[in-house]
Amino acid sequence: MKKEILTVKNLRKSYSTKAGTLEVLKGIDFSAYEGEILAVTGASGAGKSTFLHIIGTLEKPTSGDVIYGFEGSINPFVLSDNEISNFRNKHIGFVFQFHYLLPEFNVLENVIMPELIANRGSIKRKNRDKLYEKAKEILKKLGVHERAFHRPGELSGGEQQRVAVARALFKNPSVVLADEPTGNLDSRAAQELFELFQRINEEDKTTFIIVTHNEMLAKKCAQRFTMIDGVLFEGEGSF
Ligand code: ADP
Repeated sequence: MKKEILTVKNLRKSYSTKAGTLEVLKGIDFSAYEGEILAVTGASGAGKSTFLHIIGTLEKPTSGDVIYGFEGSINPFVLSDNEISNFRNKHIGFVFQFHYLLPEFNVLENVIMPELIANRGSIKRKNRDKLYEKAKEILKKLGVHERAFHRPGELSGGEQQRVAVARALFKNPSVVLADEPTGNLDSRAAQELFELFQRINEEDKTTFIIVTHNEMLAKKCAQRFTMIDGVLFEGEGSF
């Protein structure tokens, strides 16, 4: 039986603006199962990123439940801010449209950066070497290990995005949330990145939830959702 990894119930999000309250998410119900690749499409401004940020615990909902099926079942929003950060760090990987790699650090350093930050930069030499070994392995898996000692600026857009994926996978997250991951890539690099997601998904059973405008890639996802004006519909909707 497939394991339900994420359940969202009646999720709502509104923002107070000068013009009044802006209702962005209007009661979303959603489930994701272990090892699925899901695509979320929809018009610009429909609420896709807001949804992804909330399930990624980067933002809090106004109301509703977000329940992850790790360690039993857990609603991360009942935790303290510190605990939420730890939860996110342990279970969720992020890939964004822009890679946000740090230009002054090489590829290897960028991949282990979240770990360095989590430990406030103080990691013993021996442990640091282990981290580098693990980072090298992941880079190899993603086909960018030969770039380990290059700086991001020396890499192509597709390679930079692979490094960002390596960073996202570094802690072996159960779920990877990707917000327009191919938005900045040409069609070939986009295709390659998507194939990489499929391979990781097959090998590691990592669940991928991908917000994308790329219809061609969305069509290849087993599960599809469409966000229309703050409501998430199952399937390939028209918007
Ligand atoms: P999408 O990803 O589908 O393009 P978003 O989730 O980015 O849509 O945004 C949905 C709506 O929420 C937009 O109208 C946007 O302006 C609004 N919005 C997003 N974040 C905020 C915020 N922090 N404050 C006010 N409005 C916001």
